[in-house]
Amino acid sequence: MSGLVLKGVSRDFGPVKAVNDVDLVVPNGRFVCLLGPSGCGKTTLLRMIAGLDAPTTGTISIDGEDITRQPTHKRNLGMVFQSLALFPHLTVGGNIAYALRIRGLSKEEQARRVEELLALVHLPGYADRAVSKLSGGQRQRVAIARALAVSPRLFLLDEPLSALDAKLREAMQVELRQLQQQLGITTIVVTHDQREAMTMADTVIVMKGGEIRQAASPVEIYRKPADTFVADFIGSTNLIDISRDGDRAMLLGRPTAVPLPYGVSKATVSVRPEDVELTAPSSELPEAKITFVRDLGGAIEFFLDANGAQVVAVTSPRARPEVAVGDRVGLRLDPARSVVLTR
Ligand code: ATP
Repeated sequence: MSGLVLKGVSRDFGPVKAVNDVDLVVPNGRFVCLLGPSGCGKTTLLRMIAGLDAPTTGTISIDGEDITRQPTHKRNLGMVFQSLALFPHLTVGGNIAYALRIRGLSKEEQARRVEELLALVHLPGYADRAVSKLSGGQRQRVAIARALAVSPRLFLLDEPLSALDAKLREAMQVELRQLQQQLGITTIVVTHDQREAMTMADTVIVMKGGEIRQAASPVEIYRKPADTFVADFIGSTNLIDISRDGDRAMLLGRPTAVPLPYGVSKATVSVRPEDVELTAPSSELPEAKITFVRDLGGAIEFFLDANGAQVVAVTSPRARPEVAVGDRVGLRLDPARSVVLTR
């Protein structure tokens, strides 16, 4: 099979299963983000793909070639880590040309390639600058250019943007995605920031406890989370109990059109705040009291108490309902956008 393929990959550290029986296919040219909370195993998984750590069990292959035991330097990878590890005594050009020199390229070829890469990362003419005199974002770009110098077949990045301030970080996410699309290089990024993953990735892989909970496009992960952990980890959501009462499904004390699968007596519904509509109270709809309103300018959040259950609804300022703290309202949940989760 073409692309990167992991089969039954595990990594134990004594009793700790850092990565547990992971199967994964990354087709060539994809941008994949490994996403999850601290300690979920994403760095360990990336390190095994990089050859910096060996799986306890399982195999890793690229384009059908088994690389499980192949040393890092033979894998033809480009890597960027959080620390960047630029050589402080070398110029920008010296850093980028480092691997080219080892590969025996002539001085002219090195200079040409360095300028090509600097143009790619929007730093044309920077070859003779000292890396110590660059800003955080510029250093990031140099690290990326250096990793791409040898035209790697896999581009691996571990929390590459986490040292940057929020604005620069967002700009670099877009830049990194555009660069990847321009080059068509298979890219795997470790991050714990869901917005970052959703900005850049074709496929987001959500991990927990060493296992993959869901691997899908950002929109699918957001709209059709596989379980309550994924629903809660990606964006904000309301997790509301749903239960069976005879042949009806009940939600927040009222019969609901949200379908409960046959044979299931209790589950959790994930419904995004933008899919909760506030209406006039009605005997057919769950009722709630507004406890707090947060006006963020671009969006307005309503915090609600529905018989003890906490619910959040979001509207745009243009669709703002005429309600205030203390008012009682009806809650309309869009069944098509309510996901029933049984785990
Ligand atoms: P973070 O976002 O905090 O970097 P992560 O998702 O990248 O977390 P890993 O670094 O892969 O997580 O660690 C997964 C688990 O394996 C953790 O419980 C960690 O303590 C453990 N672990 C990782 N490396 C080692 C090691 N060299 N020796 C022992 N345990 C380790």
